Amino acid sequence: MFKLKLHWQIFIAMGIGAFIGLIYQNLYHGVPEGPVYQLIISLGTIFIRLLKMVIVPLIFTSIVTGVSGIGGGKNLGRIGMKTFFYYLTTSLCAILIGLTLTNIIQPGVGVDIGNQGSFDYSKLQTPGSPADILIRMIPTNPIQAASSGDMLGIIFFAIFLGVGLTRINTKYSNTLRDFFSASFEVMMNITQIVIKFAPLGVLGLITKVVAVTGFGLFAAVGKYILTIAGGLSIHILIVLPSVFYLLTGINPRKHFSAMASALATAFSTSSSNATLPVTIRCVENNAGVSNKISSFVLPMGATINMDGTALYECAGVLFISQVLGIDLSISSQLIIVITALLASVGAAGIPSAGLVMIFIVTQAVGFQDADVAVIIGTMLAVDRPLDMMRTMVNIFSDSIGASVIAKSEGETLYPNQ
Ligand code: ASP
Repeated sequence: MFKLKLHWQIFIAMGIGAFIGLIYQNLYHGVPEGPVYQLIISLGTIFIRLLKMVIVPLIFTSIVTGVSGIGGGKNLGRIGMKTFFYYLTTSLCAILIGLTLTNIIQPGVGVDIGNQGSFDYSKLQTPGSPADILIRMIPTNPIQAASSGDMLGIIFFAIFLGVGLTRINTKYSNTLRDFFSASFEVMMNITQIVIKFAPLGVLGLITKVVAVTGFGLFAAVGKYILTIAGGLSIHILIVLPSVFYLLTGINPRKHFSAMASALATAFSTSSSNATLPVTIRCVENNAGVSNKISSFVLPMGATINMDGTALYECAGVLFISQVLGIDLSISSQLIIVITALLASVGAAGIPSAGLVMIFIVTQAVGFQDADVAVIIGTMLAVDRPLDMMRTMVNIFSDSIGASVIAKSEGETLYPNQ
């Protein structure tokens, strides 16, 4: 088994996890317990904790080295604009797919949510308004941002620090650059060790998902699940591969197989942040993107560029409006498109982050929180599989972004093939 490629090991672990999970689901009907079960799922918890351990230093050192490596204002401006343009267009594409599908399929019409479980929105820590997302990016205390895992704050400060490094005397900048590059290297090295543990971690995570998730609710909102899953599939199987093919001329299949380990990790962890170390490894080692580009585009992408989440925000709010029987005007739909985009930027790369951000969008179009909370309670109950899928879409889009930007900067992708 250990001679197999990592992604095959992960896929096999997924299969075994699903099998064990099903046994527990049947035996315990959604409330699994017992020492063996605890042991298996703690493998997943350990894996996630190990990945999280490297995230903050990895994102920080990666962006500082990336930005300072890109060099002065002109290069940074050019690559930054490309990155921003890529994030924006692909996220908008995803939102439009969500908008179109939800309007055609109308998954919320006639759905009776009843009292399936309401959601306590008073504990939510979402920003008060869409503008807040932008303001929140600026940390008042970078150390605090790092210790509380505030990714937008960390990214903002890291970009500034990287720019600052290109502007000071080389006597100082060389020392600091060496320090940050060395820190980044060592974080990547630790990552390699952590990733070896991925199959066991994934086994634990998948076992838990399958063992606790009941299937009853799924039937009630089946159309909703299918709509989102359909939209995500269109984006990951048609839109993103087309962008890749058009801009690089390379068969997208190659890229799917290069990214297999990262996709499997995203699927099982539901966290773009936790997957980031694997994404960086796949994009650099398999697709051949330089560290200069990947260390800039990927860590930012993990937090800011979330195509799957953007699609979900838009489709989710339209679903809520359909359940509530509210007919949305074109201007409200436009507000949804814009706030869905901002919500996807503001959503952290952690499980279910996208779901809670939906409140931002519903508030922007004036829905009552209390009504929405009941529906979101139900959406939360069935969120995990959708979260797994949208996280895959999120990180796949980041990887395509890094590849097309690298290509446009004259790099050769897949040099060994
Ligand atoms: N779990 C997703 C991610 O980490 C965010 C979301 O909930 O949509 O990319």
